[in-house]
Amino acid sequence: MTGTMGVSDSMAASDPILEVRNLQKYFQVTNGVLKAVDDVSLSIRRGETFGLVGESGCGKSTLGRTILRLYGATKGQVLFKGENVHQLKGDKLKKFNRAMQMVFQDPYASLNPRMTVGDIIAEGIDIHGLYSGAERRERVSELLHTVGLLEEHASRFPHEFSGGQRQRIGIARALAIEPEFIIADEPVSALDVSVQAQVINLFKRLQQEKWLTYLFIAHDLAMVKYISDRIGVMYLGALVEVARSNELYRQPLHPYTEALLSAIPIPDPEVERQRERIILEGDVPSPINPPSGCRFYARCPKAMPECQTETPALIQVEEEHEVACHLYKY
Ligand code: SF4
Repeated sequence: MTGTMGVSDSMAASDPILEVRNLQKYFQVTNGVLKAVDDVSLSIRRGETFGLVGESGCGKSTLGRTILRLYGATKGQVLFKGENVHQLKGDKLKKFNRAMQMVFQDPYASLNPRMTVGDIIAEGIDIHGLYSGAERRERVSELLHTVGLLEEHASRFPHEFSGGQRQRIGIARALAIEPEFIIADEPVSALDVSVQAQVINLFKRLQQEKWLTYLFIAHDLAMVKYISDRIGVMYLGALVEVARSNELYRQPLHPYTEALLSAIPIPDPEVERQRERIILEGDVPSPINPPSGCRFYARCPKAMPECQTETPALIQVEEEHEVACHLYKY
């Protein structure tokens, strides 16, 4: 099942809310330059969910944080509704800070243990001076209700809640200032499997109710498929494949995507028995001074000599399906 608001919606299809253009985020480290995000371009339409997947350390969280301005960009641009977010100032910056919110991976660490849940949720309301007094209380109650919690939870502290409930609090905090775009950075990875589906369903329901746009970062491909309209696969700082969710699972083109998908178990035991798993050899190379040519070269079962020297660009091979691999150059 994929997200319900995205590519099928003709309005969404014609209206990118976010464009990332040739974005680089490098960090100077003692033994070189860590190229966490290297020349990434993508565009996200209003109302869709764009899933971003890859192994840990592939740069997906850094990309999310650079989009949100938590990090400055080394090069390239992030355009939100046509404006370069890294150049925003004054009122425009304030508006952006309201329009784009983040839900973090770790619901335990992201909530201040000394604040009541009500004050945590209302933090953004206070910063932006949106409501006070009874209106503020009403808004907090409404938000608690929206995410499936109770009004009386407002006076309690984070340690009194389960992991799933804390993530609901994190979502309520993000929703408090009525954002248009939410970056969810591995929002369910720290939760029990039984709770993950509930939180994902909450994300989906809120998207329908509030026409939100999501950048949903995860390493779990199965979960991303369930929520995403389109998916981007990252490897060592670069996007290697972007496609509609169903298409990516039906016909993965990049050898890395194929390997990731082959690792997902299929619930049908008959099909599962006959499947061939692609085991990737070798470790992920370091993003510090990464190799030239295709970064997947050392682990790719289909590598060709030219792959070692020529860096493949992300090219469109079918409608809504892009891949960065020399196998699809012609
Ligand atoms: Fe493999 Fe070459 Fe394609 Fe890289 S460009 S994924 S090494 S076939």
